[in-house]
Amino acid sequence: MAGIERFWGGDRITVLAYHRISQPENFRFFEPVISATPEGFARQMDIVATRFNPISVHDLTAWLDGRFDLPKRPILITFDDGYKDNMSNALPVLCEREIPALLFLSTDFIGTGKPFFWDAAAFYFRRTELRRADLPILGPVSWTEPATISAEWIEALKRTTSVGRDEATEQLAAALNVPVLRDAYAGETLSWDEVREMGKQGFSFGSHTLSHPILTQLSEAEAAAELQKSRQRLMDELGEPVRTIAYPNGTRADFNPTVERLTKAAGYSAAFTLVPGPARPREVRANPMTIRRISLYLDDGERRFRAKLAGAGRIKSSLS
Ligand SMILES: [Zn+2]
Repeated sequence: MAGIERFWGGDRITVLAYHRISQPENFRFFEPVISATPEGFARQMDIVATRFNPISVHDLTAWLDGRFDLPKRPILITFDDGYKDNMSNALPVLCEREIPALLFLSTDFIGTGKPFFWDAAAFYFRRTELRRADLPILGPVSWTEPATISAEWIEALKRTTSVGRDEATEQLAAALNVPVLRDAYAGETLSWDEVREMGKQGFSFGSHTLSHPILTQLSEAEAAAELQKSRQRLMDELGEPVRTIAYPNGTRADFNPTVERLTKAAGYSAAFTLVPGPARPREVRANPMTIRRISLYLDDGERRFRAKLAGAGRIKSSLS
């Protein structure tokens, strides 16, 4: 690891990508989006604060504009989607250490209580007593572990364009013989008032589109609407410019040169992926529409967290 660390040196931009900060016990929704427990997140931020120089998104965009010099080992902390636990569990940890953060919001889900389809699907698989059913998209299947089948079904739904996501998840509830998720999801995502409150305490906000589609599956007109309208909604709600976005899902299959062009045209100055980082500053300057990030997961212990920060994830992905 010391070798990897030396390879990257100080000449790198590190962006961490979190989703939820939560305990996994008694969790009712899609567990793979828990990035860390509150205690684990605090330990990670202690490492970040001692080994790196946290920057805000404003520092990053000012650097892109040529108005700011980045410190050595700059690090930007980001969260995707808009979960309320970012406020209850991450914000206190960040405030205590004076670490700024950037939260990418899928604006259709803010203040509406509407569940993300992966949470609805995981909820149904946890609730059902069935272990075999004729499922939408997958057809007749049997399973033993609800977690395994829900991950498989969610992945299949992401990759199909033949059925709408809301429609498919409602069909799933029917196939699994459970009631459609409504009130049980209350309070899982942020309200706009909570977003503004977080803004006063060191959070900045970027777009994560309106409805969290995979942008490469949309027509150009649909993708442009997702990009433009979500940015406009954020600016209306926050009363300030919004210059950044994270592509939903974020893998190499989830953005392309057309998406990058539309993103730029919609007024964004920087776009973030989930292609493993860190990145060289010259790469970010050359293409600020495909900035790499490091994704964190609940089972990342301290050792793996340090390895990821050292750049092991990018090296591993370049070999596979
Ligand atoms: Zn997302």
